[in-house]
Amino acid sequence: MAVNLQEDCTCIICGLKKEEGIHIVSEFICDTCESEMVRTDVKDEKYPFFIHQMKRIWYKKNA
Ligand SMILES: [Zn+2]
Repeated sequence: MAVNLQEDCTCIICGLKKEEGIHIVSEFICDTCESEMVRTDVKDEKYPFFIHQMKRIWYKKNA
């Protein structure tokens, strides 16, 4: 799942500027992190990190 964008956006997960990725609310997740999140199992040690980053998006949205 990739969307071509006009400008680089900073990924909220890895913090890198990427050209391709998805926008969730006003935040951006690069295609690399998006595909990694899809692959990550709930039991994976990375999973809580992804959830933590995702929660930051919702807190900002509801702030
Ligand atoms: Zn990323």
